[in-house]
Amino acid sequence: MTNIKVSELLNTDRVTISCEMFPPKKGSQLNDYKKTVEEMARLKPAYLSCTYGATGGTSDYTVEIADTINQNGVPAIAHLTCASSTKEKVRSVIEELKARGICNILALRGDIPENADFPLPDQYHHATELIAEIKAAGDFCIGGACYPEGHPEAASREEDLVHLKEKVDAGCDYLTTQMFFDNNIYYNFMYKALKKGIHVPVVAGIMPVTNAGQIGRIVSLSGNLVPAKFLTIVDRFADDPKAMKQAGIAYATEQIIDLIANGVSHIHIYSMNRPDVAGSIMDNLSDIYIRS
Ligand code: FAD
Repeated sequence: MTNIKVSELLNTDRVTISCEMFPPKKGSQLNDYKKTVEEMARLKPAYLSCTYGATGGTSDYTVEIADTINQNGVPAIAHLTCASSTKEKVRSVIEELKARGICNILALRGDIPENADFPLPDQYHHATELIAEIKAAGDFCIGGACYPEGHPEAASREEDLVHLKEKVDAGCDYLTTQMFFDNNIYYNFMYKALKKGIHVPVVAGIMPVTNAGQIGRIVSLSGNLVPAKFLTIVDRFADDPKAMKQAGIAYATEQIIDLIANGVSHIHIYSMNRPDVAGSIMDNLSDIYIRS
């Protein structure tokens, strides 16, 4: 049951809400962390994804965490990046995923390590090459990332869309968006993506911002546009952590309700190992998203 491909869930109009986790740092207590996986699984998201080497966590744990997610009765997606690894290392991770019966991979290039010669001859250059490799390696459901505001390295949004179409054609079964704080950005992007011939499901990524410090980091990393409405909330509640958390959850909830009301069925919450935050959003949607 948990070994299902998430594309089976995403190719229907039934609303799905999924959540994201990141692995702990190397040397941390993986057993303690597994309790967080259990708490996230109890929220009954449609699926849970685990990042690979992002947000300071170690990629060494991603496969094991994805396995733990599956064991908790929730379909797991393992992220896999290639910019910091050799092709050989990437292939060994794919084989490990196969051996553990993890059939969902979110295939990413990853950020290019600072001061590194990239790509070396034994590395994949773009996510498209990694996707082709995974497709040849077995019967996986493959996801890719997309950027409604354009990837920061892209010369233009048009060029980014051209490469996105190549990525889908290489074998992406679905896409998940970078976070956005104004739904019009997503609607506008979808219009352009469809015109470009991109017809796979595009899961909308929503980041609940529950402390003011997050906003600066998000903008500097991804160049996201932050609407005045949201900045007003941060201005008013930044010094009151409980109020900021409540306002951030309400803002994310409102974004999700607007998306679903406008026909967007698939939402991914960047829940950052916070079952309390993801749970509050799910509770706010209890008659909109029916957990099975
Ligand atoms: P690509 O699709 O390879 O695109 C990167 C850039 O190259 C873009 O500007 C694109 O336009 C350009 N490009 C693509 N193909 C070509 C081509 N043929 N010729 C020229 N240019 C090209 N990072 C992590 O480290 N771990 C994670 O787990 C993780 N999870 C993520 C999940 C989601 C949903 C998202 C949106 C991002 C995630 N990231 C993660 C961040 C991601 O790794 C970075 O944004 C990275 O810089 C780009 O990865 P990509 O797979 O989108 O790259």
